[in-house]
Amino acid sequence: MARKITKVKHLEMNLQEIKKFENPKNELEQYMTSPGQAAHTLMAIESQWGDIIERSVADLGCGTGMLSIGASILGADYVLGVEMDSEAMEICKYNIDNHDYDLSSIDLMAMDVVQLHQHLNFYKEKQSDKEVSEKQAVVSNLYKKFDTVIMNPPFGTKDESHGIDMIFLETAVAMATCAVYSFHLTSTTRYIKKKAKEINTKVEVVDDFDISLPKTYKFHTKKKDSTQVSLFRFEIR
Ligand code: SAH
Repeated sequence: MARKITKVKHLEMNLQEIKKFENPKNELEQYMTSPGQAAHTLMAIESQWGDIIERSVADLGCGTGMLSIGASILGADYVLGVEMDSEAMEICKYNIDNHDYDLSSIDLMAMDVVQLHQHLNFYKEKQSDKEVSEKQAVVSNLYKKFDTVIMNPPFGTKDESHGIDMIFLETAVAMATCAVYSFHLTSTTRYIKKKAKEINTKVEVVDDFDISLPKTYKFHTKKKDSTQVSLFRFEIR
């Protein structure tokens, strides 16, 4: 069944069956993008910039596959989902294999984005150096290999994960040739804009969402049930 998707509701319906994290890991900030938020976001990206259909897309921290699967259903040519948690990967594989749509254009890669970041930086700095390990050689193939990266990364709200959101962002920018779309806490907007300049991208806020995080993830005032998250677009220059 591969009917072309033209409506947000239709895409959302097709994302509703995606299975969730079974035991979400606090330290990896495992919270799913909702089907509604994913459908809305992917359709907006496609209709405003044409960055999904017939494009190659990477999804860093793909979790159980919400954004990868959404991009593939919408019509991406190729999607690579990168995830370090094997349990999430298993669920993601299940979601891909059991979906009504043919999702064979999605590949999954088990990898810590922090490592990916190190390898890609290494590649950038030492392109002429022939002494590279096999792993570095494989990973270096991902450098500037995707049109688009879309991701809902960990926000770096835990002490031990401080700065992880920016590592994801730098990695995504190293992998993309056109644009990176990434969710971040709205409260970090000023910082993100500064960072975008440093990494030579042009940034804009595409949309704002009120998301409710499970109790374990609440890091704002106790009175608040929801957290403001913004979708940023980083144009690669
Ligand atoms: N993209 C999914 C999941 C978002 S939650 C969705 O939109 O529903 C963030 C994801 O990033 C989790 O799956 C978590 O396991 C993964 N993650 C966290 N740190 C990571 C790292 N260093 N490398 C790779 N994946 C990581």
